[in-house]
Amino acid sequence: MSVQTIDLLKEGLPVHQESLHLTGDTKTGLVLVDVVNGFCTVGAGNLAPRQPDKQISEMVDESVRLARVFCDRKWPVFAFLDSHHPDIPEHPYPPHCIVGTEESELVPALKWLENEGNVTLRRKDCIDGFLGSVEEDGSNVFINWVQSNQIKAELMHHIGLYIAKGRGAKVVSEVSLDTKNP
Ligand SMILES: [Zn+2]
Repeated sequence: MSVQTIDLLKEGLPVHQESLHLTGDTKTGLVLVDVVNGFCTVGAGNLAPRQPDKQISEMVDESVRLARVFCDRKWPVFAFLDSHHPDIPEHPYPPHCIVGTEESELVPALKWLENEGNVTLRRKDCIDGFLGSVEEDGSNVFINWVQSNQIKAELMHHIGLYIAKGRGAKVVSEVSLDTKNP
């Protein structure tokens, strides 16, 4: 998804961004959507920024900050990674995030998530992470994650948020935390 597409989505969808204060009283999961090189790293591919982009770099920085907070507290984190089979294009987008390439890998600043026990990584081959989580047997990795972690509040981060809003996820522009440990 290009930056222009994101802007169009923002204009077209009646999404109001909220601020969220995390206290640890409500079980909260962090969902990172497509914070991969193919969308976020300059020059990484057809849908990557061509030059440094403030909106994208701020989103990445914020994702890193939140991921650190969640991992420090061992709160659940779910990361969707856009990954396409080379023979199955995703219309109307040009080829991007082909399986096995750097494009479909987490950005360097988030690579460490791969080694965290509280993080679930999910490669998906369509823009909707929810549909992309259906297994062959009909079960859904994302639903299983929400249920097994008993997550009440789902904090989605990044572009997939605008789509996820309809499913009850919070779209937040600002996140603050209690200083006390949960
Ligand atoms: Zn894609």
